Parts: sequence; C-alpha cells; structure tokens
Amino acid sequence: MSTTRQKNWAGNITYNAQAWVSPTTVEELQHIVKSSERVKAVGSRHSFNTIADTSHTMVALHQMNKIVDLDTDNMTVTVQGAMTYGELSTYLHANGYALHNLASLPHISVVGAIMTGTHGSGESNRNLSTAVSGIEMVTGTGEILAMSRTEHGDQFDAMVVSIGALGIITKITLDILPTYEMRQDLYLNLPFEQVYANFDAIQASAYSVSLFTHWENNLVTQAWLKSKADTDFAFSDDFYGGSRATVKCSPVGDDLTERCTEQFGQVGAWQDRLPHFRMEFTPSKGEEIQAEYFVSRHHAIEAMQAIHSLHEVITPLLYVSEIRTMRGDDLWLSPAYGQDTVAFHFTWKPLWEQIQPVLTQIEAVLEPFDARPHWGKVYTMPAETVKAHYDRFDDFTDLVHTYDPNNTFQNEFLKAYFANA
Ligand SMILES: Cc1cc2nc3c(=O)[nH]c(=O)nc-3n(C[C@H](O)[C@H](O)[C@H](O)COP(=O)(O)OP(=O)(O)OC[C@H]3O[C@@H](n4cnc5c(N)ncnc54)[C@H](O)[C@@H]3O)c2cc1C
Repeated sequence: MSTTRQKNWAGNITYNAQAWVSPTTVEELQHIVKSSERVKAVGSRHSFNTIADTSHTMVALHQMNKIVDLDTDNMTVTVQGAMTYGELSTYLHANGYALHNLASLPHISVVGAIMTGTHGSGESNRNLSTAVSGIEMVTGTGEILAMSRTEHGDQFDAMVVSIGALGIITKITLDILPTYEMRQDLYLNLPFEQVYANFDAIQASAYSVSLFTHWENNLVTQAWLKSKADTDFAFSDDFYGGSRATVKCSPVGDDLTERCTEQFGQVGAWQDRLPHFRMEFTPSKGEEIQAEYFVSRHHAIEAMQAIHSLHEVITPLLYVSEIRTMRGDDLWLSPAYGQDTVAFHFTWKPLWEQIQPVLTQIEAVLEPFDARPHWGKVYTMPAETVKAHYDRFDDFTDLVHTYDPNNTFQNEFLKAYFANA
C-alpha cells in the first residue's frame, strides 16, 4: 500500500487518495470495496479531470491485466480490468484478430477508455465502447455482478459508458474481427470553405478521417485519412484544395513526428495505423490539457463555424484541434447516444487559468447544438446542463443508487451529478 500523492498522465490533476492498493484477485478487491468508505479504480490516468479521483482508497488494477479468453467461435476477447489497448491489440493481431477502431493513442486502459466513451473516427464506426458485449464488476456492496449484451439488453446499455459510478470492472468482453491492414495518407492545408462545402464527402473518403486545425488562416492544416488496405485507394495529389504531404507530419509539432504512426500510404497492421501515436513513445505533446465537445452530425457545419468565430481567443492557447465523426449508439451515457455525431477536440497549452474562460465561450456558442463534453476531459458546463443532454440520465441515476447504495464510488466529480438526485 502506498500513501504518496500521485498525478494523472498530463500532470494537471493531483489525486487526493490517501492510500493506493493493487489487488491481485477479485476476492481481494471485494474485501477492499467492503471495508473502505470511498474507493475508486484508476486506469492508465489519461483523463484530464477529476473523474478518477477519490478521497480515500485508490485501486490500481495493474496486477490484473491479463487476457482471460479468446473465443474465436463467438468472435470475442475477454480481458482483465487493467489491460491497455496497446497490449490487447498486439495480442489480437498476433492471433489473426482485430478491433473495429482505436483512439488516437494505444496507451490507455480498455476499461478506463470504455468508462468515458472514448472514440476514434469514421463514418461507419461507432465509439470504442460499442464493442463491449460483457462486463464483470464488483459493485458498491462488494458483490460480483456479471452482465451481457445478449442477456441484459437495455440495462446493459447503461453499464458500459458508466463513468466509474456503478462498480469496479474486473473483466470485460469485446467483439473482435479478423485482422486487417491499413494505410495512412495525409493532406495539408484544405481551405475551410472546401471543408464546409464537402464535409460529408471528406468524412466518407476513408475508413477513419481526422481533420486538424488551429482555426487560423481559414485552413484545416492536416487531413489524416486511414483506409483499409484492401479497399480501392483512388486519391489524387489534390484533396479538396489540400495537397499531399511529402514529409512526415505530427498534429502537435514538426519536432514530434517520431511519435506518430507511419504515413505516406505505407501498408501495415490495423493497430499501427488507427492510432495517431505509437505505443513506444509519449503520445501527443505531453504537457497539455484536452477538451472535447460532441454535437449531432446534423449541426456539424454550423458548430464548426461557431467555433471558428472564436479563433482569435482560441488559437493563441491551442496546440491543435481535431474534428472527427462517429455513428450514433444506444449506450445511455455515450457522447454519441442516439445520434450520429461530430466531435470537436482541443489540445491546449497547459494554461488552465486562461483556458477556462475560453471553454465557457466555446460552450456558449455550442449551446444551441446541445453539446456534450467528453467525460474524461475538461469542461466548465454545470452538471445540470450536461445531464439535460442525456435522455436516460435519470434512469442511470436510479442504477447508481441500486449498485452503489452507500456512495462508495462517489467522488467530487460524481457528486455534482448524483448527490442530490
Ligand atoms: C494523449 C491523449 C490522447 C487521447 N485521445 C483520445 C481519443 O482519441 N479519443 C477519446 O475519446 N479520448 C481520448 N483521450 C481521452 C482518454 O481516452 C480518456 O480520458 C480515457 O478515459 C482514459 O483512459 P484511462 O485508462 O487513462 O482512464 P482513467 O483516466 O484512469 O480513468 C477514467 C475513468 O475510468 C474509471 N476506471 C478506470 N478503470 C476502471 C475499472 N477497472 N473499473 C471501473 N472504473 C474504472 C476511472 O475511475 C475513471 O472514472 C486521450 C487522452 C490523452 C491523454
């Protein structure tokens, strides 16, 4: 047991936990939950807000990070609570299998990512949590609860993106696919007019599309197109006014290209192309703060124009913004719940005092579009506003009271959502 104060990956949050414990068995974890006043499980600590914090006991499951089962008949894989996407992807590819999508980095834990509704991009892709078909957790009373998509239908849809409020996940089962190969091609400097006029066609042009911008000079500075290698690739040197990149690029600075996955159309395994950043390196910039807002795909252009109108206050504080899309899903607290979605991401310089008022301005211009913030990133929107953007939030609150009756998993972040319910 450690009592040292520890930080999240970005270093902008110091956890308040009084003790850190690392159980090796589910029984040990049950005992910890039953005997502690407040408990939280932390994943790989890549969230930027206090969602993973606790005032008492922090459970780090790094001793429970194994593959449990590869079921090739039912095309699923089951892993323990602390496995990372990087470890899982390497294992799956070596055995001839794959996942449907990945986030920009493979370093994050599968469960930590699922809890916050983490996503990649792609017209036909839903967020990473939609691959979950089974969950085993220790609830707030220390009981073991096993649920599956096939047996528990609607309620299962609440358990997946559950923001750490219902239990500590010990095992998770994900749908898998046969492995596939991909290529990544980059285009530079697409005029925003072209992007506004052709947004749907651009998003449909590859399996996964990311548009990077600094919201200045009227340009999307980089378009990253990730295509399956077995599909016809018919891009010319011109792409909606942008030109093909001839040197390796990074979204966060020319000096950081080594951190990025292979480009120039070089074919490779899915897990080496879907993320922007390589497992062996620090992802993104390092010292940074991230925010992200999700709006219905119907409002993509208006929302983009609204953010663009704030470029003079955004650009000086920004490393880069990224625009991605995803299909809607049925997971009650998923940022893409009930609607095809566009996500506006901001990688900020680590200047929280200055960023905060700009976030409030961004939230104000996105308010007409019912923007939902990323559960694992910073935002200033009150909890009441966020709740109003999720149709099933009251139903979810009922489940929190059922599975965590003594508020064992509650922390300051969750208190804002559930304390007075
Ligand atoms: C460089 C960088 C790039 C990123 N890129 C993307 C991106 O492309 N797309 C995107 O959507 N997000 C992205 N994110 C955000 C990131 O995916 C989320 O913050 C994610 O939740 C982090 O996972 P984690 O394992 O670090 O979880 P943590 O931050 O450690 O925890 C997140 C939540 O999960 C809970 N949790 C963790 N383990 C368990 C468990 N076993 N049982 C129950 N609850 C648990 C925690 O209590 C907490 O509530 C990025 C973050 C960084 C730092």
